[in-house]
Amino acid sequence: MLSCRDLAEKASDHIEKKLSFREALSYRLHLFLCGYCRKFVRHLKTTIEFGQRLPEPEPLSDEEAEKIAAQTFEKSDQE
Ligand SMILES: [Zn+2]
Repeated sequence: MLSCRDLAEKASDHIEKKLSFREALSYRLHLFLCGYCRKFVRHLKTTIEFGQRLPEPEPLSDEEAEKIAAQTFEKSDQE
């Protein structure tokens, strides 16, 4: 039987489906018996899914990077 701490350590592996069959089984058994960990896992899943939905920041094009660099140097000249 897993402890709550064991479960917390395995939770993200379970969500990413990295657990072996045996591990997944004891994980599920613990969740079945433990309301606290059910809550924890639900919260964790929400957090992970939210993170995945955030778009990747667009890399700057050379043109944009030059513009920003030019502005930065202009400012430092004025100071
Ligand atoms: Zn628990």
